[in-house]
Amino acid sequence: MAAAPETKTVHSPALTYFSMLSLLSLCPPFVILLWYTMVHADGSVVQTRNYLKQHGLQGFIDIWPRPTAIAWKIIFVYGAFEAALQLLLPGKRVEGPVSPTGNRPVYKANGMAAYFVTLVTYISLWWFEIFNPTVVYDHLGEIYSALIFGSLIFCVFLYIKGHVAPSSTDCGSSGNLIIDFYWGMELYPRIGKNFDIKVFTNCRFGMMSWAVLAVTYCIKQYELNGKVSDSMLVNTTLMLVYVTKFFWWEAGYWNTMDIAHDRAGFYICWGCLVWVPSVYTSPGMYLVNHPVNLGMQLALYILVAGILCIYINYDCDRQRQEFRRTNGKCKIWGKAPSKIEATYTTTSGETKTSLLLTSGWWGLARHFHYVPEIFAAFFWTVPALFNHFLPYFYVVFLTILLFDRAKRDDDRCRSKYGKYWKLYCNKVPYKIIPGIY
Ligand code: NDP
Repeated sequence: MAAAPETKTVHSPALTYFSMLSLLSLCPPFVILLWYTMVHADGSVVQTRNYLKQHGLQGFIDIWPRPTAIAWKIIFVYGAFEAALQLLLPGKRVEGPVSPTGNRPVYKANGMAAYFVTLVTYISLWWFEIFNPTVVYDHLGEIYSALIFGSLIFCVFLYIKGHVAPSSTDCGSSGNLIIDFYWGMELYPRIGKNFDIKVFTNCRFGMMSWAVLAVTYCIKQYELNGKVSDSMLVNTTLMLVYVTKFFWWEAGYWNTMDIAHDRAGFYICWGCLVWVPSVYTSPGMYLVNHPVNLGMQLALYILVAGILCIYINYDCDRQRQEFRRTNGKCKIWGKAPSKIEATYTTTSGETKTSLLLTSGWWGLARHFHYVPEIFAAFFWTVPALFNHFLPYFYVVFLTILLFDRAKRDDDRCRSKYGKYWKLYCNKVPYKIIPGIY
């Protein structure tokens, strides 16, 4: 089996092993502690720490919910529904970017339709009293617990599939079991010809669950208090605007690192199946029991600032994609784009050319789009005010993730484009924050 070149150069070997083993062992318990603190310990890290100090390891085992039949049922029905929508809803045929071995995967762009059908179905089930979303909130710990174990097994399946039945030539082993399990073996694993596993895990299960849980938290607060606080409304609206933007632009997402470069393994798939529904939604989870009253004016300021950040983030992605789609024949901020024509060689030895945009948002810094992404997350968290740190965990995590991602992407592009990337770095010297970093 071919080597997996991209898995070797991500970080230094020591850092790679350290981060892999820590994430593999620390993420699952963290998800449970996060849920426990938000739902049962008033969002207070100190309260949870005192509990653990008093009760030790046994106390931790006691708070870890066992996956129950109802939790498995909710996950299975939700997963099957999303898989059916992915397969059955109509959508435009979209070609993904050329892969490192020269393949061009084909997708069906039906994400927005799936998103719409999911939210309408979920809210209708509540409205017509067929299923109450508060059941999901009341069994959240069990659901996360089931997701943690179920997704680990799913990652083992991905590992075995990568070895015995890869879907394309974009597959390879690094020769190391842990690295293969963690970073994945296949770039575009599929079941049959049409069911793309990463579209399911990242988009239709992970990102979709973000919207579904945001709505769930809102409904839970409404059922608890007979009304929804303005802080919860701002949080839910901003998260829904963000996820709507995501599905609106889903075909663009298929050109990004997650899909085009990161292989299907624990890092990306477990992350999307467990980390997104738990950590990404956590500010809303906190607000359920902490309804802050912001007042109309402050609520509106936060809402507008958040929407502006989401819009700028969207516009950065849109600009890059429009530029690539039109082969540079488009207007960037009203002018012809400035660009670099970068040639590179695929692993099969073919020479290809990519255009690098060096004006517009992409002329401010090489990864400027991460700045509005981080601020948007801050704005949907700040309605929780500052009584506790934990609601801000996602913002801190996202900042670390995106700074690391900028480094990973720069390293990858440097090895892909060589002197042309150097030229881009000379023209656009800042990595993320113009004038600073
Ligand atoms: P992108 O994949 O969109 O951009 C990086 C890629 O674009 C590079 O690998 C390179 O790919 C190409 N590229 C780089 N510079 C240029 C340029 N100047 N002109 C044209 N193409 C260029 O980045 P991300 O996947 O990191 O981000 C996509 C979106 O997802 C962003 O909005 C980001 O904020 C969001 N995101 C959100 C996360 C979250 O957890 N909330 C996590 C990560 C991202 P190529 O090989 O094609 O040249």
